[in-house]
Amino acid sequence: MKKVKIIHFGDPVLRQKAEPVAVFHKKLYAVVDTIKNTLLDTDYAAALAANQVSILKQITVIDYCDEYFEMINPEILESSGVNIGYEGCLSFPGFSGKVKRFENVTVRFFDRYGDEKIIQRSGSMARCIQHELDHLNGILYIDRMVEDFVTHDENNTKLYVADLQQLTAPGRKE
Ligand SMILES: [Zn+2]
Repeated sequence: MKKVKIIHFGDPVLRQKAEPVAVFHKKLYAVVDTIKNTLLDTDYAAALAANQVSILKQITVIDYCDEYFEMINPEILESSGVNIGYEGCLSFPGFSGKVKRFENVTVRFFDRYGDEKIIQRSGSMARCIQHELDHLNGILYIDRMVEDFVTHDENNTKLYVADLQQLTAPGRKE
């Protein structure tokens, strides 16, 4: 069971757009399994996008609200409503911030075998899906916040989103 390191805010790979998967074969299964094993082996994890383990492919694995999805080349077909709620990220552990999302989304994706799926989800799962699809396009939740700061879940420390934006700015040199 291969588990890999999760990349944190500040690494330029999180600002890069992932490439679509073109071929569904054994090599893809190995990549999906790496993301899956890393996700399942991480406490309080809901989902993990390929960028977060330095793989620039359109793949995300979701294990949330008693549902499990491996989404390849996911795309939002329809969205409606507004949902404002708290969100965190495995690439910035311990903190969360208030983010504006769509309440409802219809998503098309492919499973690892190349079969097309279309699902509709609302609320928390819709939020999770939007967060993940953003990752695959180099977008982080701090780009969609409705407050100026994120808050540490245990000690209440606040960090300014403006500072995090600078830390995670595209093209920033390490
Ligand atoms: Zn995230």
